[in-house]
Amino acid sequence: MINKIIHKQLNVIRQTNMPDYDREVAGFSWDAARALLGWFPDGKLNIAYEAIDRHLQNGNGGNVALRWIAKDGSRKDFTYRDLSEMSNRFANLLRSLGIKKGDRIYSLLGRVPELYTAALGTLKAGCVFCPMFSAFGPEPIKSRMEIGGANVLITTRKLYKRNVEAFRNDLPELKEILIIDGDGSDGGLRNLTALMAAAEEDFRIEAMAPEDTALLHFTSGTTGKPKGAVHVHEAVVAHHITGRIALDLRPDDIYWCTADPGWITGTSYGIIAPFTNGVTMIVDEAEFDVNRWYQILAEERVTVWYTAPTAIRMLMKAGSDLVKSRDLSHLRFMASVGEPLNPEAVIWSADTFGMPFHDNWWQTETGGIMIANYASVDVKPGSMGKPLPGIRAAIVEKSDNGVREITKPLGIGELALQAGWPSMMRGYLHEDERYRKCFSNGWYLSGDLAMRDSDGYFWFVGRSDDVIKSAGHLIGPFEVESALMEHAAVAEVAVIGIPDETAGEIVKAFVALKPGYVPGEDLRLDLIGHARKRLGPAVAPKDIAFRKNLPKTRSGKIMRRLLKARELGLPEGDISTLESDEQ
Ligand code: ATP
Ligand code: MG
Repeated sequence: MINKIIHKQLNVIRQTNMPDYDREVAGFSWDAARALLGWFPDGKLNIAYEAIDRHLQNGNGGNVALRWIAKDGSRKDFTYRDLSEMSNRFANLLRSLGIKKGDRIYSLLGRVPELYTAALGTLKAGCVFCPMFSAFGPEPIKSRMEIGGANVLITTRKLYKRNVEAFRNDLPELKEILIIDGDGSDGGLRNLTALMAAAEEDFRIEAMAPEDTALLHFTSGTTGKPKGAVHVHEAVVAHHITGRIALDLRPDDIYWCTADPGWITGTSYGIIAPFTNGVTMIVDEAEFDVNRWYQILAEERVTVWYTAPTAIRMLMKAGSDLVKSRDLSHLRFMASVGEPLNPEAVIWSADTFGMPFHDNWWQTETGGIMIANYASVDVKPGSMGKPLPGIRAAIVEKSDNGVREITKPLGIGELALQAGWPSMMRGYLHEDERYRKCFSNGWYLSGDLAMRDSDGYFWFVGRSDDVIKSAGHLIGPFEVESALMEHAAVAEVAVIGIPDETAGEIVKAFVALKPGYVPGEDLRLDLIGHARKRLGPAVAPKDIAFRKNLPKTRSGKIMRRLLKARELGLPEGDISTLESDEQ
């Protein structure tokens, strides 16, 4: 644990949406958060109304909602009014095809405007939206469509031909396939563009009950087969308030969330929260590229930026000079989610950008940010921050009758949240037993191990599957990885436990090097020596292997279980979300 604290300046604190965290915690109520939104009569609501049409009612329909940057660099702006009309057309189009409230609409699209229109139009029609990564192959697509009972798929001709056509007839519930780029003349495919043009521009948004299903999201598949989490319309209450106080969003912000809507960050914080907060949101169609990213930050004058540790580590690898040569003076707040953010990365960002990345923690299951570093609160590099106002988080351990809280500072246990916040999942699709097992004594059990310090900051230790038990010590991979990240040669690192007769398990690290460093025995010993100095011999890795890349999910999470399976010659398990994985 690093003792350095990044203090916030008073003039910064005063200007944030939540200048006083403790006061907000004391005064917070979910009912007050609900009251920030525009409800329909009889306690009904609709996420798409809150995100888009509410702003038209308030006279802000002319503000730019979405600035889309195509792969070729060209830009297209869509106002809130544009998105309202386009999503109305989409909702009408669904109706004209006989699609009813509760039907499931899937997308298999890159980050193109049609994806956003479809998501909003689906919600307006009271249907359930399930976005899939466009890079998925046929198997993961088929299983997701089967599990959720897809009725409609929106995709491109190429993606359809490559990934869907072969199994189309195996899905009896699949009624319609809408193609955004075709003439629709063959195979019963429909032409979305033509249907949109023909559809009515006005639509009466469905008034949904708070508990009506809105979204299906699959987990990242980091620890095993992805689970399908069910989310409801009332989740928007949490999206809105977290956008406001955890990401500090305001209507005049230019906000960029780099996540794809194929995983939940790209929907909760790449569609819903930014729009409910009335910002201008940047969407980049292209994949990660260091220069392109810095160019977007500078040219679009991005003020709030939400990204992930893998990307941050790649930016670090590319060096600080690239940042210093650009005008990024508009940036006000930077946040990170998805994996533990090494303290090294936080300190690097504070030095390089003049402000730190603010790590926050949540899961597909929690639907929204649960623990965060806030704009007004001092940052302890390596900590996930403090619980969202309205969320009670604790460290728990198993006891005779369920679980009990560990109150001792820095005691390690499972990270648990008191159940009952609006964006909590309402079930795993077809896995009731698994869902039930997530709860005990009123706590939702996250499956992650963590600790809380005496100031109330939470520290990630590791996923319970990844924690290493060695010679009586409980070793969190994150601690070991963070120590190795401090070494100048290390770009990325993953740590696993290898079974060992005497110690139970020993620690092994897999390291990818920064440009200019070559793997070799000297470097291996140097890295082990560095880790021993930082962590002591009991915790430091006994072995280090060099890799060009580490296996990751498409959402950028290191798959330690795969490193372990390969190391031990065991079956690789579900690798449907694995990104190409050159070794
Ligand atoms: P699966 O459940 O299928 O194995 P997954 O857990 O990676 O996949 P997600 O719901 O996308 O699927 O990710 C949530 C998990 O990501 C958390 O449980 C945690 O392990 C990790 N995570 C997210 N944010 C952070 C963070 N700020 N620090 C540490 N870990 C994080
Ligand atoms: Mg998970």
